[in-house]
This record gives sequence, structure tokens and C-alpha cells, in this order.
Amino acid sequence: MTPDQRPASVLTIAGSDSGGGAGIQADLKTFAAHRVHGLSALAALTAQHTRAVTAVEVPPTAFLRAQIDACFDDFRVEAVKLGMLANAAVIHAVADALESYRPARVVLDPVMVATSGAKLLADDALDALRTRLLPLASVVTPNIPEAELLLGHPVADAAAAESALAEFIDDLDARAVLLKGGHLDRDELVIDRYRDGDRIARYSHPRLDLDAHGTGCTLASAIAARLALGHALPEACELAADYVHRALRGGYRPGRGAVLVLDHF
Ligand code: PLP
Repeated sequence: MTPDQRPASVLTIAGSDSGGGAGIQADLKTFAAHRVHGLSALAALTAQHTRAVTAVEVPPTAFLRAQIDACFDDFRVEAVKLGMLANAAVIHAVADALESYRPARVVLDPVMVATSGAKLLADDALDALRTRLLPLASVVTPNIPEAELLLGHPVADAAAAESALAEFIDDLDARAVLLKGGHLDRDELVIDRYRDGDRIARYSHPRLDLDAHGTGCTLASAIAARLALGHALPEACELAADYVHRALRGGYRPGRGAVLVLDHF
């Protein structure tokens, strides 16, 4: 890239992770690895390491909006990734901003609870997520527990996962869904299931028996990066699932926890 070339920019609106494993930090590393320019608007701040989230602070929504405005004011924002949004007020502020800028590609990772058990979204925010953000997203990327909360019923096996895909499209008005199978399939393959208005796809990878941190953030930001680079959605999802698998294989343990952080390089 030379100074007169203008790289695609991708904006993450999410929470920061002081431990550098998930959230904004994982997103920016993923963007860099895909050679797109990373922009960030911090919706929440977490104090955390590889074992726990120890504190959460949510900046005023006016300041979040100022960060988003600054990004759209100067950069060609090709795609937006949404991660930890903490509460309903933040969700409304983000939805208002997206409604005014109308970015063409929005990847919604409906972050609710961290692998460590920490709550990253207020209980009363579920409805705002469903009604305000789902309709604005090009694709939503729930894991099984998040899908269960969004749909309001258990998704206990492969058959239920297949019908959950249709429910996201038909009942929740999602344009596309990538349902992550990590929490579901206990056999040798992890299957991520994709569906949009006309296509169904499955992306399978060998299960890696690793206690990893930042996989969901990395997947969603890799999809956003691929969309910004011009890939169609199903292909962006497939390439992103491959990327997470590779990043997981190369993962390392930077802290005292047994939790693995993905390798983006
Ligand atoms: N911290 C932040 C800011 C996050 O956005 C997330 C997940 O999206 C996590 C922590 C939890 O990551 P994991 O569940 O992969 O440990």
C-alpha cells in the first residue's frame, strides 16, 4: 500500500478487552491481518485478563456517537462490525447512528456472556437487540446460547439448529444468520450453519479441544474484513471460519490462565 492508495476501512463498535484477547483488540488485530484499515468506536470498557472480567465501564452514549461520527466523517467505511454493546441505551445509540449513515455491510455479533461467565449485555437489552439491530444487520453471528436467548427457546441438537436458521430469517427478520456450532456439536467436527434468503451452507472444521478466548469477536471481524474486500457474504463467512480455525491452531497463552488467545499473525 502506498500513501496515495486508500485502503478499505472497517469500523468495529464494541467493547475493549484490557487483556488483548477479545473485543476491540481482537477486531483490530483481525483487520490488520486482513490488510484493511481498522477504525474503532468503544461502546464499553472492560478490565479483564485471561481468567475473568473484573470491571466494566460504559462511556456516555453521546461520546460513543461522537466516535462513530468521526469515523464516518472522514473514512470510506466499507463494513461495520458490532460486538459488546452492554445495554439498551447503547444499542439505541448505535441503531440511530446506523440509521443515519446506512453502511452497506453490517456484521452483528450478539455478544451476551463471555466464556468466563461474565455478563456483557444487560438482561433488558435483548429486546432492543432484536428489534433495532437485527433488521439493520447484513448477517448476525450467534453462538448457541445467544441464539437460544434471541429465539426464546432451547436449541439442543443439530435438528433444532437447522430449524433455528429458518426462525432467524422468517420470525426475527434477519437477512442472514451464521449459527456457530461450537457449543452444540460434541463430535469431531464443529459445524457453523449459514442461511440467507436463498442459500444454506455449512462450514465444518475439526474440533480443537482448546479453552480459547476471542473466537466470536475474531469471526465477526474477519467476516466484516472479507465483506470490505469485496467477497460475497457466504464466501466471507466461510473464509472467516477458516481464519478462526487457523488462528486457534496457532493460539498461545499470554497470561496465567489456561485460556488461549488467538494468533493473528
Ligand atoms: N470481552 C469483550 C469486550 C468481548 O466483546 C467478548 C466477546 O465478545 C469477550 C470479552 C468474551 O470473549 P470470549 O467469550 O471469547 O472469552
